[in-house]
This record gives sequence, C-alpha cells and structure tokens, in this order.
Amino acid sequence: MSIVLRGAFAIADERRYSLIPFTVPSGVRSIHVAYTYSHRIASDPRLRDGNTLDIGLFDPNGFRGWSGSHKDAFTVAETWATPAYVAGPIVDGTWSILIGPYKVSPRGCEYEVRITFSADPGLPPFTEPDRVYASPPRGLALAAEAGWLRGDLHCHTRYSDGDSWPADMLSSAVARGLDFLGVTDHNQTGHHAAYAQVQGSHLPLVLPGVEVTTYGGHWNAWGTDKFLDFREPTSAAVSQVMQAAAANRALVSVNHPKPFGPPWEYPDAAGFHCIEVWNGGWPEQNEVSLAWWDTLLRAGRRIAAVGGSDTHRLKDLAGDRLGRPTTWAHVGSDRSASAVLSALHTGRAFVSRDVDGPQLYLSRDRVRVVDAPGAHLHLVTDQGLARSVPVPSADWTTSVALEAEYLRAEVRDNSGEMLALSNPVWRVM
Ligand SMILES: [Zn+2]
Repeated sequence: MSIVLRGAFAIADERRYSLIPFTVPSGVRSIHVAYTYSHRIASDPRLRDGNTLDIGLFDPNGFRGWSGSHKDAFTVAETWATPAYVAGPIVDGTWSILIGPYKVSPRGCEYEVRITFSADPGLPPFTEPDRVYASPPRGLALAAEAGWLRGDLHCHTRYSDGDSWPADMLSSAVARGLDFLGVTDHNQTGHHAAYAQVQGSHLPLVLPGVEVTTYGGHWNAWGTDKFLDFREPTSAAVSQVMQAAAANRALVSVNHPKPFGPPWEYPDAAGFHCIEVWNGGWPEQNEVSLAWWDTLLRAGRRIAAVGGSDTHRLKDLAGDRLGRPTTWAHVGSDRSASAVLSALHTGRAFVSRDVDGPQLYLSRDRVRVVDAPGAHLHLVTDQGLARSVPVPSADWTTSVALEAEYLRAEVRDNSGEMLALSNPVWRVM
C-alpha cells in the first residue's frame, strides 16, 4: 500500500523546515520513502537557481533519521534501515516526513513524496564491512613528543553524504597513522553503532560525534549521541542547542566559518568551545576562519582552534584526504577519547598540514618546530604579529617571552601558506 504527498514551496519558504504528517496503519513492518522535486540541483552552496530539498523522518516517539538531499529513497524497517535512519519497531499512528527547502528557485519547487508500507521487513540491499585489515604506515610519520596523539576530527561516511562505510574510514585512518578519529556524519548518530562494531588491530580512538547541519552553518559536537535539533536557523536557537549539548558534556565546535564552508551566519551564537580554523586544504579560504578566531581571542574569548579534513570520499584519490589537516592533542598518559576531548577543550592542541607534520609545540617559555626548515615562524599576540623568524633547522627550539595577554604561533612557508598553527598560551591561566 502506498500514499503520495504532494506540495510546493515558494522562495519565501526557503530554509524553513516543515513536518508533513501521515498515518501508519497497524501491521506494518517496513516503510519505504521516495521523493522527487522540480529543477533539482546539488546541495553545493555555490550552485544557485534550482531547488534542493532535504528530507528526514519522525515517528510518533521522535526522530528516526535525516538524509539531507543525498538519498532519493530510504527504508526504515523493524530489523534494518538505510544508513542515516534508525531501525526499530514500526508503531502505528502519526508519523511525519520532515522536509527542508534548502534552496528554492524563483520558479518555485514542486515535490512528491511516495510512502510505501509493507508487512514484510525485507532484507537490507547492502552488506556493511565490519573489519579493518589495514596496517599503520612504516617509517612515514615522525614520532610526536611523548603524550601527544594525532588525529582527524571531521569525516563523513555513507551514514550521510560520504562514499564509504565506517570500517573503510577506520581502514584509512589506520593506514594514515592516525591515533584518533572524530566521526561526524550529518544530523544523526546511526554511524556510532557501526563504528563500535568494527573489529581490527591498531584502530584509532573513535570520538563519536555529529555535524549539526543547519541552514546558517554547521557545528560539530563530539562525545554525545543525543538528537541535536538542527531545524531553527537563528543565533538564539543554535546557541540553545549548543549549550544543551555542552551541558551534556559534548565538546562543541563551529565548523568551517568561511565562504562556501558553508559559512557561519550566527555571529552572536554562544556556547561553543572550539572553531575549526583549518578545514581541508589551507588555501581554501581558511585565512577567513583564522581571522574570525583571532578576533574572538583578542576579545578575550578562550576558544580553541581545531582542524578537520571533512573527508567525504575515500574512493576518489583526487579528492579530500583523511589527516589533511591533522590535529595534535596532548593527553599525557591517558590515551582515551575523553582525554582527547579534554585536551582540545583546553587548547592543549595544534594543527598541522598532514599526519607527518610539521609539528609545533608552544609553551609559556619556548617553542619547538619540527620538520619545517626554511619556513617562517610567526609569533602572534593580542597586539598582532610580534615576531617573524626563519626556521633554521629541521628540529629547532627557541625561547619565547609571554608579555602579552596571550601568545600563539604559526609556521608558514615562503608563499605564506600555513604549515602548522598552535593554540594560544594565556598570560593569566
Ligand atoms: Zn560541514
């Protein structure tokens, strides 16, 4: 049995989610949803003059998943679900399709959602790998100082718009030599269970996370599996959800606040601990994110800088790559996910171009730069650039004086491109 829901959006509806209720009769053990719409374009923020509709699902008890615009159809059954959706009992009663007109063209957008009920739960049309056979790189990465771990904080799998499974992502992390991996599929946490099932040796610490994907910008929360509402694109609503996540011990980060990040449109939002100052390749407008972070530091806001590759594709070698950039965190002898989150929270971390460095250790009285001979070390305070000196050797330590409110370090190559970026040390701890 099928039902069809039809409707239309005008440009004034853009970026406003609606819930469309429908009734699930008793005896149903799987629900299949397929949708189409007019003048469809991809979700890339650079594309305009067409429509992009996001979709999700609520059952009578709450959230059952969200797949943005990256799946034309999905199934939710008692025993399995399309990734991004949650398997479980199909209770009868009022369910809702969540539909979000992310982009609406001046011509408007007509959509059709077809919902098919079945008494047969069926079988998943995919098998998910659950084992990692990869081994760490040999002789590639320089050792870090004792107590430091290296990782990537931002990646996507088939649980949202990535091309690979969690086990593939962990294989890539092992092969790259990462010690931790933040797993941040968009707007749902179905990937957490999948990551937890993966077997293998040398697996990185997994930081269970979610990229809360709103129409005015994206933010990561690590260390939580709660539903974080992404629907209301206002500073007040975003602040409230961030603060609730933080109260639940999540670490909260504003992601890629730069043109086409997509950017961050909530300048007044509060409640985040970190900013993803470095997302993907440095030349991809990360100077904009750095400038905003610097503004907040100068205002006395103790926000930590983190990096994330935002890897979506492992099958496309020309695409993004896990560990570019790499975030390094000082955990001491506690090699646990919570120790990584706590190091990031307090800024005991730096970001570098790749898994093998360069490395940049800044303390109150010295700075050590590893593997960046010929580059330039910039020391930056709340007053601006305090000192710029060439890095004379492959492993160089020099003393610094903390005379300003805070001091932070950057290592840049001769063309000005960032190679490594530290967090600040503050004069008043
Ligand atoms: Zn994002």
